Amino acid sequence: MVVYDEFGPEKILEVYHPKVGLHGFVVIDSLALGPGKGGIRLTPTVSIDEVSRLARAMTWKNSLADLPFGGAKAGIIADPKEITLKKKYELIKIFAESIKSICPSLYIAGPDINTTEKEMEIFAKANGDNKSATGKPKSMKGLPHELGSTGLGVYHSTLIAMEHKGLSKKASIAIEGFGNVGEFVSKYLIENGYNVVAVSDSKGVIYNEKGLNFNKLKQIKEKTGSVINYNEGKVIPTHEIIKLKTDVLITAAIPDLIKIGDVNSLKFKLIVEGSNIPTTPDVEEILHKKNVLVVPDFVANAGGVISSYVEYIGKDEKYMFNLVEEKITRNTELILKNSEKKGCNPRDSALEIAEKRVRKYCKVCRI
Ligand code: NAD
Repeated sequence: MVVYDEFGPEKILEVYHPKVGLHGFVVIDSLALGPGKGGIRLTPTVSIDEVSRLARAMTWKNSLADLPFGGAKAGIIADPKEITLKKKYELIKIFAESIKSICPSLYIAGPDINTTEKEMEIFAKANGDNKSATGKPKSMKGLPHELGSTGLGVYHSTLIAMEHKGLSKKASIAIEGFGNVGEFVSKYLIENGYNVVAVSDSKGVIYNEKGLNFNKLKQIKEKTGSVINYNEGKVIPTHEIIKLKTDVLITAAIPDLIKIGDVNSLKFKLIVEGSNIPTTPDVEEILHKKNVLVVPDFVANAGGVISSYVEYIGKDEKYMFNLVEEKITRNTELILKNSEKKGCNPRDSALEIAEKRVRKYCKVCRI
């Protein structure tokens, strides 16, 4: 069930086209700060409820990153394993044509699960406005997410949080996931002399207390499909990454990694949420009381949407990398200081700041 409150969702548009088998929707949660910005998710189980929760998360993420975007998200019900690539592209094309009237004035698309720069190219072309989507290929003046903007932001957020926690460069770090986010955060940390001792993917965790070499990890992953074939080190099951005794854990893969039953056995001093919803707010509150610092997802992983903004205003890659560093560094510092001042956990601290900005410009939540 969609939950409505004082902030939104302001508009929900459902698109149904039985002849081509298209069933999709756009949820525009809030237009307070600008056109709704959020990716298109294409999965067999996506629903208006799921998309509306994700659209709300985008409202807070965009607000906290201080971007002139509201929060939105879109979904198309389809299983990419069951349809051809041609069919998938057709669904994106018809979806873009169907929501033409709201793009980019009320909604700007972007990549999400099962949509990449190729789908954004198709979307923008079918929509007829280059500004209707971000994350497009470079040939369309795009800044694809494949440039690693999110991983760079997670790296900068980690540096601030480590400093805040009094952790030196020697502190041991484990990284869950070696995809778009995990690979780039590993790269920046290792190449800048930080002590990354564990990296995981869906096949397992490679752990070496002497530290891991980034180029070797990348080559092994490319050649063999998994970081566990690194050879020098111990291989442990994927989920056991949360049992490691490292100082820092950076999440960059699955949702719900840390459950309430895991809390008492965790040894980390700092957790940086590079992935979305790796745990629940309840778990974060318990960890806060146990003096474990958790940097929330919508603060640490906002690099992707900052990159989208840079593409939207027509600036280049260099400008994007600088803005990601500047905004993520400033926002992580801001929420950690506010959390200390108010005595609340970092998520509540970040939400307070994000809500305040939305409230100031919100037409639907003020009389
Ligand atoms: P991806 O598909 O590129 O990579 C996912 C990685 O996770 C792969 O290395 C895969 O092997 C690994 N993996 C799968 N199951 C695993 C498991 N059980 N344990 C450990 N590793 C596992 O995905 P991504 O783009 O890197 O996204 C990762 C997370 O970050 C997601 O939660 C995503 O929503 C979030 N995120 C991504 C971006 C972005 O720009 N890519 C932006 C914001 C948030």
